[in-house]
Amino acid sequence: MPSRGEHTRAVHPPAAPVPGQVPMGLPVYRTAAFSFSSAQEYADLLNDDLAGYSYSRVDNPTSDAFAQAVAALEGVNVEDEVVGQAFASGMAAISTVLMSLTHAGAHVVVPREVYGGTYGLLTTVLDRFGVTASFVDSTDLDAVRAAVRPETTVLWGETLANPTMSVADLPALSAISREAGLTFVVDSTFASPAVCRPIEHGVDVVIHSATKYIGGHSDATGGVAVGRPEVMAKVRHDRIDLGGMLAPDEAFLLHRGLATLPLRVDRHCRSALAVATAMAEHPRITRVDHPGLPTHRDHALAGKLFDAGRYGGVVTVTPEGGREAGMALCDRLRLVAVATSLAGTHSKVSHVATTTHRQLDDAALAAAGIDPGAVRISVGLEDPEDLVADLEQALDAL
Ligand SMILES: *Cc1c(COP(=O)(O)O)cnc(C)c1O
Repeated sequence: MPSRGEHTRAVHPPAAPVPGQVPMGLPVYRTAAFSFSSAQEYADLLNDDLAGYSYSRVDNPTSDAFAQAVAALEGVNVEDEVVGQAFASGMAAISTVLMSLTHAGAHVVVPREVYGGTYGLLTTVLDRFGVTASFVDSTDLDAVRAAVRPETTVLWGETLANPTMSVADLPALSAISREAGLTFVVDSTFASPAVCRPIEHGVDVVIHSATKYIGGHSDATGGVAVGRPEVMAKVRHDRIDLGGMLAPDEAFLLHRGLATLPLRVDRHCRSALAVATAMAEHPRITRVDHPGLPTHRDHALAGKLFDAGRYGGVVTVTPEGGREAGMALCDRLRLVAVATSLAGTHSKVSHVATTTHRQLDDAALAAAGIDPGAVRISVGLEDPEDLVADLEQALDAL
């Protein structure tokens, strides 16, 4: 007869072995809590007197491994274990970092083409807590300098901005940030570390929506922030209290995505340039925004900051005929899906004026340099000839 009852034996099976060999795959620590060898060990861990794990909202080995892997790709010294912090989404990373670097009365300087979620966070959430924001044309360095106030704490940037694919002048902006004693935070989602590593250009903190190129398969949601240890220690502290930690299952998928990130992104970029080049020659296309084209305003800057031949995987095209033509182009595609988000194996399109920039009327779109007919193409891993053929048949049918 077993000495313990059925339920006790069901709850307490023999412990899983802890291997002495290093697993080749990343183990998924799907556990919310950890146990300790003594009450003292528990107390020491909570006081940060002992390194280790207590609760997966605080730290989880799988999620931490993912964040540190991104930090390594971004060129941060990963000897310090706080430099990479993982989040449940890109917006969890953005909201935590912004809250960590501001307080009631603080002010942030933000590019006017900033991601819609970040715009909404600043104008409908953080404004209620006394944080104000100035939205500036960040290609105008004098305008950025002029927007800085005594109460400014953060300069925000985006390596590549949606949908015009403008490129941030990271070295110049980081010099402005340093002179003014600000923290320079850059959302590098559209670039990924396989195109540009903003830390090398003086940026303090880099953020990604890992949902996009880092995960790369449109099957996991997550975010990550990496940067200088002094800043990231505070971000980690606030992440724990705000609660937006990345779950271990998602961390596993995102971590697996990293192994093929340079391979995938290189192909996304080459195919995007092929699509952009073909579209620039099409008689029904009035404008193509892609920094790999010599006609793009930031082509030379991209050449300086980006890895050779890699200009991102997104192309924005504008067909003649305005808003209706943009929507009709999306509808006539057969291979490319009309879908939210970007990156991922499958090519996708979205009509900018009715989706990512729907809050802007035609006047505001014009002020932001966006045509009402613009269509954003996230170029996937298909054969680029097939993508061009699909776009051409859709344009011919307009
Ligand atoms: C998608 C995206 C985000 C938000 O990321 P989520 O993972 O959806 O929360 C932030 N910034 C940029 C540039 C994005 O494209």
